[in-house]
Amino acid sequence: MQTAFTDAQLERPGIGDAAAILKDCVHYGFCTAVCPTYVLLRDENDSPRGRIDLIRAMLEKGGAPDAKTVLHLDRCLSCNSCMTTCAAKVDYMHLADIGRAHIERHYRRPLADRLLRELLARVLTQPGRFRAAVRAARLGRPFARALPKRLRPLLALAPDTLPSASEAVRPGVYPAAGARRMRVALLTGCVQQALAPRINAATIRLLTRHGCEVVIAGGAECCGALPLHMGKEERAKGHARATIAAWLGAEAHGPLDAVVVNASGCGTTVKDYAKLFKHDGEIAERAASIAARTLDVSELMLKLGLKPPAQRIPLAVAYHDACSLQHAQKVIEPPRELLRRAGFRVLDVPERHFCCGSAGTYNMLQPELAEALGRRKSAHIEGTGAAVVAAGNLGCMTQIGLYSALPFAHTVELLDWATGGPLPPPLVGVTMPEPQAAETPAPASADPNAVW
Ligand code: SF4
Ligand code: SF4
Repeated sequence: MQTAFTDAQLERPGIGDAAAILKDCVHYGFCTAVCPTYVLLRDENDSPRGRIDLIRAMLEKGGAPDAKTVLHLDRCLSCNSCMTTCAAKVDYMHLADIGRAHIERHYRRPLADRLLRELLARVLTQPGRFRAAVRAARLGRPFARALPKRLRPLLALAPDTLPSASEAVRPGVYPAAGARRMRVALLTGCVQQALAPRINAATIRLLTRHGCEVVIAGGAECCGALPLHMGKEERAKGHARATIAAWLGAEAHGPLDAVVVNASGCGTTVKDYAKLFKHDGEIAERAASIAARTLDVSELMLKLGLKPPAQRIPLAVAYHDACSLQHAQKVIEPPRELLRRAGFRVLDVPERHFCCGSAGTYNMLQPELAEALGRRKSAHIEGTGAAVVAAGNLGCMTQIGLYSALPFAHTVELLDWATGGPLPPPLVGVTMPEPQAAETPAPASADPNAVW
């Protein structure tokens, strides 16, 4: 694609990066067919190709964008389905980030929109604030009609019950069971710590059982993903800086072999820290060293080699691919492989490349489109005949759970259960098939006792 940036514009880091990305797009539009918003709305401006053109025009012109450009970029899920399909390898993910940051700097949104975004950025990144907000949302439900329309989706998303704050995993070192094979830091996340601390607990049990010493570094809570997706780049960097400092601080007691993430939206951001900080001299190297060691928990478990299950329960599990895992991180087979090795019957979901509508804060900011996608995904999942749904991202589990009665468990909860942990709470009451005899175990990695 031709661009018309001036030399002065190209000297600015964001614009120079955008120009390099834009020149790769050949505009044939193969990406449009896999773009959820284009499929729903049939508007070229809601396709990747259309958005690329809008971002080019906005950045070339500079200054405040028009409301139409903002509308179509806001409707983008950042699902990156377009990147999986694009033969020219256009780096849409970073182009969209640059576009959003430009909007955040130059566009004055209507007051209600500004307040909602500020509320989300402040509340979702702090587990304590999030818990207080959920309680307030529950109290506010009877008065939903009196609230501004923009706030109503938040009330619908607030869960009826919240685990006790004491269930959240605490900072500290969780020793390996038996000989230590690796020392890893686990990102416990912000929303996940409040909404489903059982996922972090299951992850710690699974990793320690497989020879990992697990470090929960105090001060490492939000990775910055949620503010980044709202264009709040400086705020995202502030969170990321604190998290990087906490992990590097933990290295005073021994090097970390890996940083493990069990929420794929966060994992995508942490793996991308090198690019996020590439123009920030003082921290760029440290950010790159963290990014290079970051793994989704399923990637790490495949390296470690899953212990053979005590008994194989061939429960029919529909595996939902979170977009951040399948499109951004390209982690598709590891969770399926692990679930199969654990004895489950893994079912693929039709139209798996399509987003469920969760997409960070998308279901709070674009509730109508998110609902259409959530219902579509839920119908596909229920059509598989599965007894249970597994996913590697709490956001997807929450979103699809709004439209499906099936129980949802995180992949690590199922792996933990199969290798000696407790039954995941969402599976209580599920009719279990007859266990099968355990097969002769086959290690998932070359050497299951390998020490890193
Ligand atoms: S993003 Fe890729 S697939 Fe889409 S129009 Fe550009 S080159 Fe073609
Ligand atoms: S990231 Fe997803 S919603 Fe956005 S343009 Fe690409 S395919 Fe469409």
